[in-house]
Amino acid sequence: MEITKLQHEVDEWIKTVGVRYFNELTNMAMLTEEVGEVARIIARRYGEQSEKEADKNKDLGEELADVLFVTLCLANQTGTDLQQAFDKKMKHKTERDAVRHRDNEKLKDNPQQTTKTTDGESRGN
Ligand SMILES: [Mg+2]
Repeated sequence: MEITKLQHEVDEWIKTVGVRYFNELTNMAMLTEEVGEVARIIARRYGEQSEKEADKNKDLGEELADVLFVTLCLANQTGTDLQQAFDKKMKHKTERDAVRHRDNEKLKDNPQQTTKTTDGESRGN
């Protein structure tokens, strides 16, 4: 339901502010560009690349939102029900990976792996 709402919100924005969708190939290129911006932050902030002074103020959430926005545009303009696709994917992953990750020794006892929730809480997997 939430993704459906986001698809409608983006569609309304495109029709009222954005004039029209960029074509699919343009949006695909833009999606690639936005993923690259996410990768730059991750590589420098969480990876082994040093983070340049100019990059330290870059907002990961903003870049992830750019990825989401263009993804929603592509879903809208190709007639894709992303909520239905996401629900189907989660069901598939849950069935396929029911024990796969739980039994993966490589995933156990990794002190670097935590999840930060939006309320600032950190928790291990
Ligand atoms: Mg961006």
